[in-house]
Amino acid sequence: MNKPQSRLILVVSSIFFIVLLLLGFYSHYHSNNNYLQIIFLNIGQGDATLITTTEGQHILIDCGPPDQAILNALDQQLAWWDRNIDIIIITHDHADHWGGLKAILKKYKVNQIISAQPPQMSTDLTSILDSFSSKGTKITNLYAPAIINLTDGSRLAILWPTQEDIVEQKNINNQSLVIKWQYGQKSFLWTGDLETDAEDKLMARYINQEPINVLKVAHHGSWTATSPQWLNYWQPDLAVISVGINNNLGLPNEITLDRLKRQGISIWRTDIDNRLVIYTDGQALWR
Ligand SMILES: [Zn+2]
Repeated sequence: MNKPQSRLILVVSSIFFIVLLLLGFYSHYHSNNNYLQIIFLNIGQGDATLITTTEGQHILIDCGPPDQAILNALDQQLAWWDRNIDIIIITHDHADHWGGLKAILKKYKVNQIISAQPPQMSTDLTSILDSFSSKGTKITNLYAPAIINLTDGSRLAILWPTQEDIVEQKNINNQSLVIKWQYGQKSFLWTGDLETDAEDKLMARYINQEPINVLKVAHHGSWTATSPQWLNYWQPDLAVISVGINNNLGLPNEITLDRLKRQGISIWRTDIDNRLVIYTDGQALWR
């Protein structure tokens, strides 16, 4: 074999090898899994959960405080070329829940942002939603009762607030979207920063609710939320508290931790235990 020929073979086989490698990477990150992946991210003082469906859709429920924490957290979870977020749900108009939007805007393409817009929304949130809208993101205003059916079979029930609730509730925490995510026989609940007076109203409105598996504890473990009645109503096996290390708010509150322990509910804290990754195929649930 002469020199040019062997060089050609070397080049062709190198290209072939690189293509194989890229295909391997691609299928690793994009293959349809037969489980739903839920990651309660560690983004400091705030809330952010990344859910990836069996079809590879990425959904964020809240996106952390106004710094780079959300980007750092997403960088750890998503491949560098994976720059598409299908849906971001913002539970309510407090910056520890939507502040990460500014950082996300620079790096990701977001198909849709869902929130329950109050009559008076902050100018900061209004302006960032406008920025997303001008980049082609669909901005959806959604109130309870509503159901979002995803193509993977996930069913998201929006239980709170109705349009009347959001006008009535002057406390912004009580304007939080309450989302029950059902996948097969497993269910998860997000409640933003909802406080006990709103919890009571919700419980009175929906008399029969099936127990849930995982509760994202409201308001970072504040004692003003997560009443014993609320825990008894939902009967979660696991409670996740998203909270910053040494936050100056004294969260989570000992009273809340005690309520959870009394009901035999396992506790996961992002400040101590870091992020939490949960998988479910709709039948079993594992970490
Ligand atoms: Zn909060």
